Amino acid sequence: MPPVGDESTSYAIAAPVVTTVAVDGSDATFPVARVFCVGRNYAEHAEEMGHDPDREPPFFFTKPADAVVPSGSRLPFPARTAELHHEIELVVALAEGGRDIAVETALDHVFGYAVGLDMTRRDLQTVAKQARRPWDMAKGFDQSAPTSPIRPAAAIGHPATGAIWLRINGRLRQEGDLAQQIWNVPETINYLSTLVALRPGDLIMTGTPKGVGPVEPGDRLEGHIDGVGDLTIDYDG
Ligand code: MN
Repeated sequence: MPPVGDESTSYAIAAPVVTTVAVDGSDATFPVARVFCVGRNYAEHAEEMGHDPDREPPFFFTKPADAVVPSGSRLPFPARTAELHHEIELVVALAEGGRDIAVETALDHVFGYAVGLDMTRRDLQTVAKQARRPWDMAKGFDQSAPTSPIRPAAAIGHPATGAIWLRINGRLRQEGDLAQQIWNVPETINYLSTLVALRPGDLIMTGTPKGVGPVEPGDRLEGHIDGVGDLTIDYDG
């Protein structure tokens, strides 16, 4: 019998396993449908990447659901990169989907929030940008979306302000505040839902504050968002 799906379905191979994220304070886990990411959503990060942070419409890219790995993981250093970068981000986990979701009701669709890393093979991204090619292999590689346990909105509300930071080997590397987001969470859900029909289980990584930079083999990454949680990842040396 296949591990998921209708019992009457006969798959030609074993069905893929559903990727899950722990839920803080619960034995139940959050099943990941898809992972959407917002580009350049903090002004000072847009500037450090060489862009004008004026309020142009948000843009999005994706990662495979199984790029999500839990906090506490020890990860192999990714293949085919000499410039792995960290991007610490607030992750929004959706309980309900929909199309053309209004800003005013967008937060009703949120299950909870987590601390995530949008790990980036910056060297591959730079080549892709120069060649006007897709970012998929720079952003959507294996284990590229470490994510902390999700804290339900029912427990913590909807954080719109609060410190977000990343330390590597104990040294502060990124620091910002959720209030610095160019597009806040309701606006991001609204805009994304005009592009695709959102689904329960979708995760949205909401962009990174200033200070992105390199990660080396053997590094320990520790991320934090006030009221949302903490994330620790170790890379093999
Ligand atoms: Mn990012």
